[in-house]
Amino acid sequence: MPPEFLGAIFFLIYLSMKIKAFFIYLFVIVILVNTFSQVDRVEPPYWWTGMHNPELQLMVHGKNLAGSDVEIDCDGVTITSVLTLDNPNYLFITLKFGERVKPGIFSVKLKKSGNLFASFEYELKQREPGSADRKGFDNSDVIYLLMPDRFANGDPSNDVVEGMREQIVNRKNRTGRHGGDLKGITEHLDYIIHMGFTALWMNPVLENDMDRVSYHGYSITDFYRVDPRFGTNEQYHDLCRLANENGMKIIMDMVFNHIGSRHLWMEDPPSSDWINFYPDYVRCNHRRTVNQDPYASESDRRLMVSGWFDRTMPDLNQRNPFLATYLFQNSIWWIEYAGLSGIRMDTYPYPEKNMMTEWNRRVLAEYPRFNMVGEEWSLDPGLVSYWQKGKQNRDGYRGNLPGLMDFPLQNALKESLLAEDGWDSGWMKLYETLASDYEYPDPFNLVVFPDNHDMSRFYVQMDKNEKLYRLGIIYILTTRGIPQILYGSEILMTHPKSAHHGDIRKDFPGGWPGDSVNAFTGEGLSEKQKAMQAFFKKLLFFRMNHPVLHDGKLIHYAPEKGTYVYGRFNDQETIMVILNKSVDPMNLNMERFTELVGDHRTGTDIITGQPLNLAKSIEIPGLTGYILELQ
Ligand code: CA
Repeated sequence: MPPEFLGAIFFLIYLSMKIKAFFIYLFVIVILVNTFSQVDRVEPPYWWTGMHNPELQLMVHGKNLAGSDVEIDCDGVTITSVLTLDNPNYLFITLKFGERVKPGIFSVKLKKSGNLFASFEYELKQREPGSADRKGFDNSDVIYLLMPDRFANGDPSNDVVEGMREQIVNRKNRTGRHGGDLKGITEHLDYIIHMGFTALWMNPVLENDMDRVSYHGYSITDFYRVDPRFGTNEQYHDLCRLANENGMKIIMDMVFNHIGSRHLWMEDPPSSDWINFYPDYVRCNHRRTVNQDPYASESDRRLMVSGWFDRTMPDLNQRNPFLATYLFQNSIWWIEYAGLSGIRMDTYPYPEKNMMTEWNRRVLAEYPRFNMVGEEWSLDPGLVSYWQKGKQNRDGYRGNLPGLMDFPLQNALKESLLAEDGWDSGWMKLYETLASDYEYPDPFNLVVFPDNHDMSRFYVQMDKNEKLYRLGIIYILTTRGIPQILYGSEILMTHPKSAHHGDIRKDFPGGWPGDSVNAFTGEGLSEKQKAMQAFFKKLLFFRMNHPVLHDGKLIHYAPEKGTYVYGRFNDQETIMVILNKSVDPMNLNMERFTELVGDHRTGTDIITGQPLNLAKSIEIPGLTGYILELQ
């Protein structure tokens, strides 16, 4: 054999050994990759000891976690179940906490064939004393509603955050981000408090990592993270705590119906039924009455509950019990973490309605004195009252929701002020809508409002008639319920009639460095705006200091000739409100109001301080409202 040939054979043997080694290495690497997995998400991120519900469901995400055996070494914690739905990248671990469980960190080990496959640490925190007994917002409060992107920019460095999809901040773009944030709100909390508001509802603050129009917050892409353009979870926590210390309650805006289409669940859903119609876009028919309608077709019902709110807002299937539990726990996590006093639930009639009932029940089981208000944008009190806790519906549905947004009253107020008085028009609209309160188990827990972030500002609804506007504001702040005022109402913020959402949600003047008008300091405000701000402040403090306007009984008189009279009374106080929307002065014969006035002889108008003799008759000028404190 020639030596070259021998050399070639040795070389081939050598090469085959290399290749073998290569395959052995490859095999080892494949085994290792499959043996060790990374857990990249555990939700809720932590929990507390001493909760009413001893069970907790962890949603664990990581590559190929299915089939893991789960081990926990923590005194008092037991594993009730470990499940994977259709997607092997998720584990649902249900834990049960016994009496002995103490706050601390424990490790959770995932094993396959006895080998450690993945692990993570989990923390149980100590609950704050009195947490379960927290009091929700109620009719002693007036809520200030603001849109976080549009109120104040306290930190220009977070206007654009690297890694987020929307990378432009532009105050001239109505649907773009303007840079408002939690720091801005925190810095101006004293303004809101000094105005006389006692509760704050911010539009959603959770992450909306959408490609565009992410500013409004209703396309959530992470249920456990504040959007970094607004700040951090810690900043939200601190804002809530600071507010609480100053007697202000925080109401969190939550969305259970849908998510933003950039949520991880769209890329990697835990199960094939997690998102309705997944992965196709099927539009919701928005026919909300199917919930109450005895004649509604099943196909209409299905489309209402399961259709997507919008192409970028896929619909969650809350019939999936793991998703339902995820959402229940998410709201409880935020209440406990941030110290919330209330929740405003978006699009209340859109999700599966029995799940919503269960949600209310779970939250109230943890926090019996808590308050929640739902958005049912219907103008009929029959439809709205359907959801309220205590309502006996003919179809057997028993809601658990304590409060609702009073859309019927908002609409009636607008129509009353704009239309001529007639047999069934003008004030009669409001008078008769209020009569429908018999439909509600608890009308005093409805949230009343002249407008909100989704509709024309009330000032624009009133064709910028400042006097009619004042009458409307007086009504909202003196009728039954919990008033809510949209930011900027106090300075007559306005927009073109076309009412583009971005125009309704303009930047609050003074919230951005270099603003030529500053509503916080009053600099650059017109006299008219200053007067309106002072008017709000006076009314808000009067309401705050007069419990009769919170829970006092209400009596009203059939409107006559453009004038509507009603009163609030309890054992200590009587308030008489006279609203004259006609341009002419009105003379009122007081005999008609004996039931309300009783032995009182004078009434002092709280706006002007003017005392009025209630003996026989009083005259009220045109387009004027009196709030009389009776003596
Ligand atoms: Ca900012």
